[in-house]
Amino acid sequence: MTIIYTIIEMWRFIRPDAIRVWNDSETRRRLSRYRGIIDNKRVAKYLLAKEIECEIELNADIETLWNEHTRLSEEFRSYLAKIDSGDVSRNSPDNIDVSYLDLKHEIAMRILSECHFCERRCGVDRSQNKRGWCKLGNESRVNSAFLHTGEEAPLVPSGTIFFSSCCLACAFCQNFDISTNPNAGVIVDAKDLAGYAEALFREGALNINYVGGDPVPNTHTIIGSLTHQVSNVTQLWNSSMYCSEQTMLLLQDVIDVWLPDFKYGNNECAERLSKVKNYFDIVSRNHLMAYETGEVIIRHLVLPNHLECCTFPILEWVAENMPNCMVNIMGQYRPQHRVNRERNKYSEITRGVSRDEMRAAFDKADELGICWKPVS
Ligand code: SF4
Repeated sequence: MTIIYTIIEMWRFIRPDAIRVWNDSETRRRLSRYRGIIDNKRVAKYLLAKEIECEIELNADIETLWNEHTRLSEEFRSYLAKIDSGDVSRNSPDNIDVSYLDLKHEIAMRILSECHFCERRCGVDRSQNKRGWCKLGNESRVNSAFLHTGEEAPLVPSGTIFFSSCCLACAFCQNFDISTNPNAGVIVDAKDLAGYAEALFREGALNINYVGGDPVPNTHTIIGSLTHQVSNVTQLWNSSMYCSEQTMLLLQDVIDVWLPDFKYGNNECAERLSKVKNYFDIVSRNHLMAYETGEVIIRHLVLPNHLECCTFPILEWVAENMPNCMVNIMGQYRPQHRVNRERNKYSEITRGVSRDEMRAAFDKADELGICWKPVS
């Protein structure tokens, strides 16, 4: 037992900043609900979503399901505010036959059958194992699940679950071994995934961190797992955010903290480097939807020669639209994956980002009043 305790607590020595960061008043203010869940003074949203009753049959048509979802979302937000302020005591989920969370799971399964979890909107019936652009059928695969000590300081130790495959095709992907291989890892169903999450929580995870690849094509399995999870632990969505509006609506009210990647400040760079259309419009919309209902740490990986077209426009947009979020301005870009194989095609990003470029990014963030230091 002593050995296990030592291993579990090792993060305190590896990442002392993960403890120090909570002395920072801006971190405590901007991530106050997350901190409250860690301290067991707040309740993870997915648990509260089990305490709201769905009043329709789940075999109703999809329009009826969405109408009920809209109604319950309003009811949920009112309930959440009252729970957080201590105005009401919690409903018992034992008295509820079909919950708001069950409704979300049913809608997710309907989306799977004409897949539009992401904005590629392939429309294939993944419930019948048809495969779209991401090459995933109805199954989800987990490549690894462990206590991650390399995430942003307030998130460490993070119970990180890496899914295979992705909806983007970034030329410089650092996880290309799993993002480009839909068969990497082991098949998990909703119960298996809940087992991973509960085990990570028991080992000391401050959050359950769904990443990949990308979690988006696995939304049905993740929401399904929440119906089996029971612990009061933060649910964290770590994604490139190229998901559909419908996926965002399902995730709102169950995700507590968002860790979105904001890669490009325009649609053209995204189409050339990640093979996606309308990137900025879609991803900025999804950032706003995340910000509307949760606490957010945006990740922005600075690319060489992309300050004017990407870094500065993103920081300006964030300062204007999401003033209370935090931004991790990351400087660890290295040319990898297709960039190394096709150096002429991606010539501007065949080097690491320079010290001057990082300085310019930090100066811009300071000029705009963005909170970046505790997490970068
Ligand atoms: S998740 Fe996206 S890429 Fe995969 S099948 Fe669905 S719509 Fe297509």
